[in-house]
Amino acid sequence: MEQRRGLLLIISSPSGAGKSTLSQRLRHWDPTIRFSVSATTRKPRKGEVDGEDYYFRSRAEFESMVDSGEMLEHAEVFGNYYGSPMGPVSDAMSAGADTLFDIDWQGGQQIRNSALGKDVVSIFILPPSMAELENRLRTRGQDTDAVITGRMAKSQAEISHWAEYDYVLVNRDLDEAEAQLRTILTAERLRRGRQPQLSDFVRSLDQEFKDRS
Ligand code: ADP
Ligand code: 5GP
Repeated sequence: MEQRRGLLLIISSPSGAGKSTLSQRLRHWDPTIRFSVSATTRKPRKGEVDGEDYYFRSRAEFESMVDSGEMLEHAEVFGNYYGSPMGPVSDAMSAGADTLFDIDWQGGQQIRNSALGKDVVSIFILPPSMAELENRLRTRGQDTDAVITGRMAKSQAEISHWAEYDYVLVNRDLDEAEAQLRTILTAERLRRGRQPQLSDFVRSLDQEFKDRS
């Protein structure tokens, strides 16, 4: 039976709006989803694990990954480099598994404009208010005041790209936003073009119909 190609689920938002939390919840709901572990030159936060949250790399190492064509996309965000390695994405697609990306608008744009664009489903997450965004960055307790101020300053620029995304949700309540994400993924998986096995199935219904008459 023909297998479907995995889709590329891209989630972007201003920092602190909740995309890491929602991504984790979605992966917990469906463990077949593969997470695209990005490479970054940013220093690890407390609790972050190399190879799980990110591949933490030096600038020289990152640049050599880009030069050797290993990156599906890459961009500079908040003064550090971030990029999505291509290898695991191709593997997932050919295995029929969906890949989740937590990347910024620049990465989203690059993948949408690449040869893989038709496999992309993109979701933008908005915070309920700017005050709540700052509150979330502070309560996350992972960044210094200066870093938080920098992230808040960049949030408006990130938000300005909301209309480039297929779906937009406002993360007021985590349970509600998670349910909306599940709905989007479920519906996108049911698109006719993503169910190559349907032709065989409908042929079998047809045969059964004939056999019964
Ligand atoms: P991002 O990955 O977009 O930078 P995070 O997922 O790290 O954001 O979320 C930032 C902080 O906000 C975390 O402490 C998280 O627990 C909290 N948070 C996320 N969504 C909500 C929500 N709907 N209500 C309250 N707090 C939230
Ligand atoms: P953080 O430092 O908070 O983990 O991430 C900062 C920003 O970089 C977030 O908007 C996140 O989505 C984005 N980001 C993480 N990985 C990648 C990546 O591989 N490519 C791009 N373009 N952005 C990324």
